[in-house]
Amino acid sequence: MAKRDYYEVLGVDRKAAEEDIKKAYRKQALKFHPDKNPGDKSAEEKFKELGEAYEVLSDPQKRAAYDQYGHAAFDPRSRASAAGRSGGFGGFHDPFDIFREVFGGGGSIFEDFFGGESRRDPSGAQRGSDLRYDLEITLEEAALGCEKEVSLTKADTCDACEGTGAESGSGMRNCSTCGGRGQVEQVLGGFMRVRQTCPRCEGAGRVIERPCRVCRGSGRRERTSKVTIRVPAGVDTGTRLRSSGNGESGLRGGPAGDLYVVLHLRPHEIFQRDGDDLLCEVPISFVQATLGAEIEVPTLQGPAHIRIPTGTQTGTVFRLKGRGVRNVQGYGLGDLHVRVAVEVPSRLNAAQRAKLEEFAALCDASVNPRTKSFLDKAKEFFR
Ligand SMILES: [Zn+2]
Ligand SMILES: [Zn+2]
Repeated sequence: MAKRDYYEVLGVDRKAAEEDIKKAYRKQALKFHPDKNPGDKSAEEKFKELGEAYEVLSDPQKRAAYDQYGHAAFDPRSRASAAGRSGGFGGFHDPFDIFREVFGGGGSIFEDFFGGESRRDPSGAQRGSDLRYDLEITLEEAALGCEKEVSLTKADTCDACEGTGAESGSGMRNCSTCGGRGQVEQVLGGFMRVRQTCPRCEGAGRVIERPCRVCRGSGRRERTSKVTIRVPAGVDTGTRLRSSGNGESGLRGGPAGDLYVVLHLRPHEIFQRDGDDLLCEVPISFVQATLGAEIEVPTLQGPAHIRIPTGTQTGTVFRLKGRGVRNVQGYGLGDLHVRVAVEVPSRLNAAQRAKLEEFAALCDASVNPRTKSFLDKAKEFFR
């Protein structure tokens, strides 16, 4: 889907200062707030778009990512997505939350702007709840990206009544409690009056004549469904992916919530992850370490070879460039660090032992210079 440029949405220059961005948002958000434009879908879209643009351009980190990658920086399907950073750019916030944040406040300030009416939809429509799903994936899946089908049980639109909550053939009638106004007035004595949302119709003003037998009038049913999640390459434990519209379905025609998938990497038998780099410990024999050798090491991209130079000590790390994990923001590939561990033979037969003893007899201090230097220092110490 083509998206408008965030700078264009706010009507600011690409070099605009933070303060100008805020100013532009304030001006436009007030104009397009849904409470000022009831029922106007295009104003609502515009309001959402403004929130999104402001969220990105007001945050120096997100703005930099946007300047570099454009919308792809925030698209979980894209490799450039920054969703991999924990607590990062996974999804956008509720535009109403952003609005309240910018205008500094709680409900009271917000309500003052628009004459005391909260943002409850007059038809009683309600957005479905967001859901969280914890998904375990392997290191390979995280490094290369994958598609996962998850099965979740959630409140879904009722098939029998198509979400209306009414038995087929049955309609809606005015709510008798509030007389169709959706609100009830309570007189607290004297001239004090409080208006409240009607408890019976929950503000809708209308009630169902005969509730649907399947969902008992709620318009929703618990159902298990399958959702395909696209996991971009480079994600890590804690990455949060948003699957838009796959949360609970809304009530009375309200939009569905979103599904947030939180990723967890299963520990790997061979590799440890460190950001975009991988670590791997490879045992080599003491003969290989002494004489030098070419060894084969596993990488995510298939086996690779390392030349072990003569006299390699245990703990020496060899770096294989580009054999790590793809950066989730598209900054190339990490490296693989191979740490060799020299294995000391633990069971020798008589012939092997004899050869080693023969070898030892041939050795003088120059064969093990580190041992010699340590012993020299120790001698000094004990004097
Ligand atoms: Zn009512
Ligand atoms: Zn139903």
